[in-house]
Amino acid sequence: MDDDVLDSLWLAADHGVSFDGLHVDRTDETVHFETPADDATVTGRAAFEEVATEHAAYVSNWFFWHERAPTRDDHWAFCRWLEGASETPVSDRHAALDGGVTRSWGQLELTVSSTGFGERRYALRHEADADEPLAPLTRYDDPLAARQLVKHDGDGRYRPLKTATNLPTGWVFDDLLPEAMLETVEYVYPATIANWYRERKGDLDVTHWRETAARQTGIYGLVSDLDDEAVGWLAEACCVDSQCCKRREWDLDDECDLDVPRSEGAFPCREPCSLVVAAARTVTKLEREATETYELELTPSEKAQLETLVDAVAEDRLDEIREADFDDGANRYRVRYLRTKLFDDGLPDGHS
Ligand code: SF4
Repeated sequence: MDDDVLDSLWLAADHGVSFDGLHVDRTDETVHFETPADDATVTGRAAFEEVATEHAAYVSNWFFWHERAPTRDDHWAFCRWLEGASETPVSDRHAALDGGVTRSWGQLELTVSSTGFGERRYALRHEADADEPLAPLTRYDDPLAARQLVKHDGDGRYRPLKTATNLPTGWVFDDLLPEAMLETVEYVYPATIANWYRERKGDLDVTHWRETAARQTGIYGLVSDLDDEAVGWLAEACCVDSQCCKRREWDLDDECDLDVPRSEGAFPCREPCSLVVAAARTVTKLEREATETYELELTPSEKAQLETLVDAVAEDRLDEIREADFDDGANRYRVRYLRTKLFDDGLPDGHS
């Protein structure tokens, strides 16, 4: 064991060490050393070094969390959460960290490993690449690279919502120190660690829909006209696990919840985002239109096909439909056939 580690523990023991099951107290040359499995009282530096070495897992753990881990409260808590520190005793955690402990954060898969005495290294990749060998993935080590990486989805389309479920795949940061890992997560999912931590402490400040809508000005000022039911439809469209990694915590206001199930993301959403506000502007205008009655004659299969098509677009499934899969109502040729049959002359007959 390093002299630096032993010196740190020797000095800290003067005031008493009590952390993750390790207790060390020193009075002059006499040291009381205790772990859940063992305790000993020894005298002299040499005996102290011997007993510390016998409990290397505990000492290593203490050293990391007091000398190497980030000190900012939310960062410290996040790193502890990543390795399951509050629910896994040091003896088990030490063994698990040798092989790597993995957690999900949105679409990220984060793995923390111990890489030496009192050291941790972190790896990040898209969860869809979790079972891939590292070789085909592009490797990065500079957190700044993540900012560029997550700007566009796998098809090169700009991602206006950083927590949307279209994080691109094919990359890995496989050897990051704690601070670099935290910086990378911040580029991928900004402010999610801070808000997660606030929520755990019970002081997440939530701004609800009505307050957000009332604050809008200019072309967005009209969104406060959107009725409550439509706000619910909007949340159901945008704030669900299939579309966004955040868990919606905002409602209509403090007292009036939206009648819409919440998603299950690891980190909270504390206010309607700009994407939802922009969508609200469009639907507010659309909802102002009066309804009209149309008559459209469809066979039962055609009606089912239209429903399938709407569903396929809403679930972003179009790219998965094979060209020759004519049984799928959203198959391109089937849809073109229906368009030719029903809509080639503009609106169908029966418009009233
Ligand atoms: S408002 Fe909805 S879509 Fe926007 S970040 Fe929050 S949960 Fe996601």
